[in-house]
Amino acid sequence: MNQNISRNDLSDVVAADRAHMWHHLMQHKPLETNDPRIIVEGRGLKVWDQNGKEFIDSVSGGVWTVNVGYGRESIANAVRDQILKMNFWGGAMGTVPAAQFAEKLLDKMPGMSRVYYSNSGSEANEKAFKMVRQIAHKRHGGRKHKILYRERDYHGTTIACLSGGGQPERNAQYGPYTPGFVEVPHCLEYRAQWDLTGEAYGQRAADAIEEVILREGPDTVGALCLEPVTAGGGVILPPPGYWPRVQEICRKYDILLHIDEVVCGVGRTGAWFGYQNYGVQPDFVTMAKGVASGYAAISCTVTTEAVFEQFKDDDSDPLNYFRDISTFGGCTAGQAAAMENMAIIEREDLLDNTRAMGARMLDNLRALQDKHAVIGDVRGAGLFCGAELVADRGTKEPVSEKQVGAVLADVLGQGVIIGATNRSLPGFNNSLCFAPPLIATADDIDAITGAVDGALSRVFG
Ligand code: PLP
Repeated sequence: MNQNISRNDLSDVVAADRAHMWHHLMQHKPLETNDPRIIVEGRGLKVWDQNGKEFIDSVSGGVWTVNVGYGRESIANAVRDQILKMNFWGGAMGTVPAAQFAEKLLDKMPGMSRVYYSNSGSEANEKAFKMVRQIAHKRHGGRKHKILYRERDYHGTTIACLSGGGQPERNAQYGPYTPGFVEVPHCLEYRAQWDLTGEAYGQRAADAIEEVILREGPDTVGALCLEPVTAGGGVILPPPGYWPRVQEICRKYDILLHIDEVVCGVGRTGAWFGYQNYGVQPDFVTMAKGVASGYAAISCTVTTEAVFEQFKDDDSDPLNYFRDISTFGGCTAGQAAAMENMAIIEREDLLDNTRAMGARMLDNLRALQDKHAVIGDVRGAGLFCGAELVADRGTKEPVSEKQVGAVLADVLGQGVIIGATNRSLPGFNNSLCFAPPLIATADDIDAITGAVDGALSRVFG
């Protein structure tokens, strides 16, 4: 119990929340009879709610964002110093932290050379989509404009991002969509679409992308946008052999490779970026959540010099530059926070810790799989892990949404917050999801999986 917090102190806040808040991602009916949960404080990877109840946070702020944990004074100081000196400049002129963070970031991304700032993952992806479209107009008469996305991947919440999003449960009821986005099949071997395994499966799943390209016409396809590890769509890891073949296909058809690192970026998988685990070289990398661990809003669209060059020095075209702006891409708080966030990851060796603790999380989840028949599959990369729950291991029929909800509620009652992939429609929406801050210790990991063990016993017997 955190002594600073008492129920009475915040009853007016709870009332204001219930009266006025429209919360993200939730049905509000239950709040007519239950109090909303309000997170009041955080330290390390612990958070406290309005009643002073303590939780281990295994979701990094709900949506896999707070990579370096809560209460970081050095980030607060860096932001404070920067905003007192110069808090904002938007448009065409630069600022000191914008240039400095770009340099620091690119140091971790060999082969990449330009950083375009905005505020959210969706916006970073939209910028990349616009760059692809503009390149199509400048170089290919507008023809090579299609953007391929993968079933189960998510790239954001705007209408264009939903148009390039592979999760029907998020898209339904928001159409009509933006044209020019085309879906390719997912690559989850556990729910195999081809009767193959291992590397052969990975190559076949990548070949399925080529089939779509050939069907659409390679001269119409400008880019392929993929998550390195599909996050909210079910914690889907690429099978071996997948990424090298994907790279080969993109090069063969002159298709730009856009990797969405909004979740995996800045350490989550134990590498600076998820794609670096697979030896691929992208043309675009987008990132947001972990860039400043939620201490300030910032997102980046990172490109190669070759992409950047296409927007330069074309006097024959009056529209020859990227005519785009993000007002709050000019907020220096984001860049100052991002710089210190990265320095913390380096100082505290959090990439090493992520690999070690991720391996422990996977070991623990596999041990639970041996004990609980309801765990059909365990998957993970660094501190982004999932356990897929099935009613029957043979048929792989997913457990119900209600059962997944019961596991989450039981774990919450034990003082641990875990997540699940989107649960509003049946299908892939049955994986428990674990993404604690990268500072997690062995005790934290064991406490998280221990809570899940108890919950599975109670919910499934
Ligand atoms: N891309 C991926 C892979 C995501 O998971 C998300 C959000 O969860 C986004 C993009 C969109 O980011 P934002 O919510 O910051 O717009």
